[in-house]
Amino acid sequence: MLQVKRVSQITFLHSEALDRVPRIAHAFSTRRAERNEFTLGAVSGNPVVQMNRIRFLSAIGAAGWPLLKLKQTHSAIVRDMESTLAATEPVEGDAAVTRLQGAVLGIQTADCVPILVADSKARAVAAIHAGWRGTAARIAESTVSRLLSNFGLDPKDLIVSIGPHIGVCCYEVGEEVVEAIGDPAAFERREEWPRAHLNLAQANRRQFLNAGLRDQQIEISSLCTQCREDLFYSYRRDGKKAGRMLSVIGIVS
Ligand SMILES: [Zn+2]
Repeated sequence: MLQVKRVSQITFLHSEALDRVPRIAHAFSTRRAERNEFTLGAVSGNPVVQMNRIRFLSAIGAAGWPLLKLKQTHSAIVRDMESTLAATEPVEGDAAVTRLQGAVLGIQTADCVPILVADSKARAVAAIHAGWRGTAARIAESTVSRLLSNFGLDPKDLIVSIGPHIGVCCYEVGEEVVEAIGDPAAFERREEWPRAHLNLAQANRRQFLNAGLRDQQIEISSLCTQCREDLFYSYRRDGKKAGRMLSVIGIVS
């Protein structure tokens, strides 16, 4: 289950499953702080965004930690963060793994799925950005393989939290997406819907199962970013002006 928390006027979601792992700091941000405007991304160099990020990290117990940034391109690129260089210069990719302590990995979203992963003994963490393109390119599965090969982990020791994203209720897609994902079980079709709807959480859940995890290791947020305007930014709803949520995870040193 994901729980809504509020610290220093900042509202964020916290995963109960990740919370049970010792020495892990994590959170999925929302748009809510004092006002209903708490964007954490999209505009680089924006002083408001910088300040919001600093406040967000403080609220979740990661005050002053470097934020290791990705230049997200809807790819299947998984980066190894072996130093804190990406805190100043974002590296291209849509997932990252690290064993660094006292630094957080961050994923920006506004409808796509943010996924946070931790080893149950906090030996490594991962953060994944999975829209339909990344999902079609099986980025979740690639990230698990990277965690296993880099750090010698066992898939049975991983805890996965699939954060707030555009729900199957709102995510109408074209047949090219159905074809690209190639997994009929990830779609829902209803008489009242003219086209198929993609269930991004299910598509990614199935990749984790394929990678050797079991259902009890995977937690899924049921909150839809498009329906819940009170909590989230949504690219489909708000268009280009949409702010961004930031989902972060790191190991306490
Ligand atoms: Zn919805």
